Amino acid sequence: MKKLIKNGTIVTAADTFTGDVAIENGIITEIGLNLKADGAEIIDASGCYVFPGGVDPHTHLDMPFGGTVTADDFETGTIAAAYGGTTTVIDFCLTSKGLPLQQAVNTWHEKSQDKAVIDYGFHLMVSELNDTVLAELPQIIENEGITSLKVFMAYKNVLQADDGTLFKTLQAAKQEGALVMVHAENGDVIDYLVTKALAEGNTDPIYHALTRPAELEGEATGRAAYLTELTDSQLYVVHVTCAEAAWKIEEARKKGLRVYGETCPQYLVLDQTALEKPNFEGAKYVWSPPLREQWNQDVLWKSLWNGSLQTIGSDQCSFNFKGQKELGLGDFSKIPNGGPTIEDRFTILYSEGVEKGRISLNKFVDIISTSSAKLFGLFPQKGTIAVGSDADIVIFDPAVQRTLSAETHHMNVDYNAFEGFEVKGEPVSVLSRGDFVIRNKQFVGKPGSGKYLRRKRFGAAPVLPAKAEVSGGVV
Ligand SMILES: [Zn+2]
Repeated sequence: MKKLIKNGTIVTAADTFTGDVAIENGIITEIGLNLKADGAEIIDASGCYVFPGGVDPHTHLDMPFGGTVTADDFETGTIAAAYGGTTTVIDFCLTSKGLPLQQAVNTWHEKSQDKAVIDYGFHLMVSELNDTVLAELPQIIENEGITSLKVFMAYKNVLQADDGTLFKTLQAAKQEGALVMVHAENGDVIDYLVTKALAEGNTDPIYHALTRPAELEGEATGRAAYLTELTDSQLYVVHVTCAEAAWKIEEARKKGLRVYGETCPQYLVLDQTALEKPNFEGAKYVWSPPLREQWNQDVLWKSLWNGSLQTIGSDQCSFNFKGQKELGLGDFSKIPNGGPTIEDRFTILYSEGVEKGRISLNKFVDIISTSSAKLFGLFPQKGTIAVGSDADIVIFDPAVQRTLSAETHHMNVDYNAFEGFEVKGEPVSVLSRGDFVIRNKQFVGKPGSGKYLRRKRFGAAPVLPAKAEVSGGVV
């Protein structure tokens, strides 16, 4: 059935204009003024923005961590994402040392295929890079279309890879056209500081932040950038929280390196004092890297605006306060790291960014959707409104005033990290490949309707959307 979105203001990373969008068979087939209905279902977007669906490059759904599993799986997580204006997520497939990569990928397919309500792809975690892994990696990249590899520089004795592994991963990525993603914190020093704090009886949530100072994020970011330079490879730094790290990325980019950075909504609007909340409530705000002193927020906004940072990921990794965050009562190092953010990523960036004059409307689209699609080999199938692109569309009412709360959110978790936060704007309807997932603020999608996305290699030549092909590109 053909659909026609009429009377909205269409906004892409490049343009803002009034027009109609015609959709057929899940694809945008025509954009223009006063398009003929021709029997199409008319969707009135008067007073609303028509945005490309958000691309969230960083989620952890149905992920085991520290003896527990995230509260949101691929069903609840992608439903919440859709309510929030996101139509594509790229989730992290965890691997285990000594086990075939394909086995890990299969596990993630099983977690997602009958549950996701929007399209999704995977990044692959690299925990070791021996000859066996090196032999299997090219097949995974080719067959699965997984063109981004994640290396942890923190979480000693759990997820952390050594510098040699990072170096070899960068080399392999250069060879195979993949993008290396790093969690940049100095895990060895953090491990020492955590042990010391606990030995001194400092067990409250705030010590999570105090044992992971910003210098250790800046140091690891700089180290990863140097290894990228040495291997002539490409690097994407996930969840940048602070000036120290943002400036390292800016420095690398000034040198002409292919180094990119992502921040997250929590680092833009929350600060370290949240970890001092009484009655163990600070545990709700335990992320790694941690929330920082407030002045860093201004640096992050400026870095988004000037292009030093290109994307915003939710780093969705939800744990209930009751029974999960509480695992860290009396020992901050046992608090599961992460929070529920997948639903509010889009509106927080709009409300705090566009409405407060920190970024332009087109820059908003670039950060929330287009840049991630380009960096992760999905553009122009995803990330824009163009003829030939998937009809992943958000009809967004900028006039709505609302308060974020666990009472009204759709994530499967017992608190909202942004509880009481006043925002402007709300996604009214959300389409995934031309089908409504959210219609007039109600979920009308179907678990299992989301498709797995095989992504193009980093830097692959762009293909015109008229050919309806997926392509990669360089931001
Ligand atoms: Zn993460």
